[in-house]
Amino acid sequence: MSASNVTSNREIFSRMNLTEKLPSPPRMAMELVRLCHTESASLDDLVKLIEADPALSVALLRAANRETAPMVANTSQIISIPEAALGIGKHGVIGLALGFSLSAKIPGGPCQSFHYERFWSQSLARAIAAAAIAEKSGVAKAGDMYACGLLAAIGELVLATSFPGEYDAILAHKPAPDRLLSEEKSAFGLNQHELTVELFHEWGLPRLFGQVAALHTFSPDIETSAETPARLIELLYMAHKISEICLADPLNQRDFALVEQMAARFGLGDEEFPNFFDDIATLFDERGELLRIRSQKSPSYREIKVMDVPRGEYGGYQPTGRLSILAVDDDPISLQTLTQYLRGKNRRVLTARSGEQALNLALEEKPDMVITDWRMPDLDGIGLCKILRRTSLTEHMYIIVLSGCESDDELVQAFNAGADDYVVKPFSPKVLEARIRSGERLLRYHQTIVRDREIIQQYASQLSIANSQHQVMAMTDQLTGLSNRRNAMLRMKDAVAQATRFQDALSCIMLDIDHFKRINDTYGHDIGDLVLRDVAKIFTGNVRGYDMVSRIGGEEFLVICGRSGLDETRQLAERLCQAVARHETRSPTGQIVRCTVSCGVATWHQHYLNGSEFLKNADIALYKAKNAGRNRVEVAD
Ligand code: GH3
Ligand code: MG
Ligand code: MG
Repeated sequence: MSASNVTSNREIFSRMNLTEKLPSPPRMAMELVRLCHTESASLDDLVKLIEADPALSVALLRAANRETAPMVANTSQIISIPEAALGIGKHGVIGLALGFSLSAKIPGGPCQSFHYERFWSQSLARAIAAAAIAEKSGVAKAGDMYACGLLAAIGELVLATSFPGEYDAILAHKPAPDRLLSEEKSAFGLNQHELTVELFHEWGLPRLFGQVAALHTFSPDIETSAETPARLIELLYMAHKISEICLADPLNQRDFALVEQMAARFGLGDEEFPNFFDDIATLFDERGELLRIRSQKSPSYREIKVMDVPRGEYGGYQPTGRLSILAVDDDPISLQTLTQYLRGKNRRVLTARSGEQALNLALEEKPDMVITDWRMPDLDGIGLCKILRRTSLTEHMYIIVLSGCESDDELVQAFNAGADDYVVKPFSPKVLEARIRSGERLLRYHQTIVRDREIIQQYASQLSIANSQHQVMAMTDQLTGLSNRRNAMLRMKDAVAQATRFQDALSCIMLDIDHFKRINDTYGHDIGDLVLRDVAKIFTGNVRGYDMVSRIGGEEFLVICGRSGLDETRQLAERLCQAVARHETRSPTGQIVRCTVSCGVATWHQHYLNGSEFLKNADIALYKAKNAGRNRVEVAD
């Protein structure tokens, strides 16, 4: 980028008069408010949340760079989000976060054609991948690369937010990436990447990182240099490519070979990379779930790869409808005679006048069959045979060797070199034709095997999907779609472990429908089922995102409330109780059925022995509620 270019981009940028507020994922504000009101929330907890949101990260980095820069001369700019948070302290972060959360209520954003969710998801995946590669390779600081990855596409979000109408008009006709950049440039004076550079500068982040970030979608010239910027560009590009695979998004092209090749350059061999990827995907799932910016669990790298294989890529042999034959002979007249026989039968015929030329053509054009003369200067037919058999790209070709000599020894030598057939010159056209046909038959068998293998692979990947569906089914209650008792007990075990380890608050509510037997007796079992489904819906509709509702028995439910103390859980139980009492279930014949629930609330104490004891206390509280007249909440002693 030339100096004048930089100046003019700056000027354009300062004229752009951009709006300050970037949209955050819709759940961000809720999560922040919750966390800020949780007494025990640490700075780490806040950082973890903020790190999942580009908009809030920018606000934090700006604040940190503004706070520290004037006080200490020559201080280096802060780019890592945890460092920025340390710089302004827990109360600073809470103040900023709360102020921010009030303005971040926009669900999605104003630009219709911009995929906000994909933007947020991809930014998060890219950030996690960039930090992981940095950590693994030691090329840069993980925190710095996390921020670079998170903010690498920020120019795009700013365009969508600042110029929603204009940007929408551009995105609406789905331009190709290059075209998009040039349309942005002519509409706004800067394309998204140039804007990213200016934004980094504006926000007090190092210009070098802005420039690296701006290049994250451009394939770098691998193998070029080991200089820092080049390595960083490569790192961010690889993180970007990993994020495309993580997103499992059909709009993205997945480039497994490229990613693996780049991974090797960062010290991750073929053996290690799938696990490395899976760790990134797990972290991405966890953090994404916090903000609900994605709901699917990522499959493993190996599964994605199997599911993604396009047809016809196995073994380097690509079957085509028309047989293609490469004819090789150093003698022009023999070559012409041969090609005359071969042509005219709806076959594609290629010709080569030497072994070397044949080898190049075989690699480039991948013919189905090679018919080669034996005796040629330099690389002869036997040598050619041996080389073709050595690489996976050419090893499937059917090779017929032509020779003037009829001796048994020569024949054996040709087969040993890898020839499929041997024809003595001068050949009779009928015999040659018969030999080609037999080769063709073998090639077709081969095609069938390749196709079968593809089908088997597809079945295998469908099977792995079906298996995970079975797993989901084994954890789900069929009637209500809630998680079942088994899953609830597993989650309870995790929740108890987490509460013990991090001294987190944990509570639970046991709920049981009152006189449910009467409902069955009065209206029938089917209406009873309807009531159960309605009650389940009321529960899921009224709990918070991090509460887990399960059906643990016939008309018994459990809500596990992570990071919740007694008071807030009791309030939640009251809310659920009232919501059920207010509700009317309407039967198909128009009857109105009402019911109530009783609730027992318990909160975790470190002196409990285990989850069962905890649940038992909630159960005792529930029976207290039953005995006290039902439709009420009682708390365990
Ligand atoms: P209480 O207020 O003491 O809880 O009285 P209750 O009648 O609700 O309690 P009880 O445990 O005596 O009866 C529960 C009933 O729930 C008995 C059973 O037939 C019914 N039930 C269990 N599972 C299902 C189901 O899946 N569908 C329907 N419709 N009823 C069910
Ligand atoms: Mg009951
Ligand atoms: Mg019961």
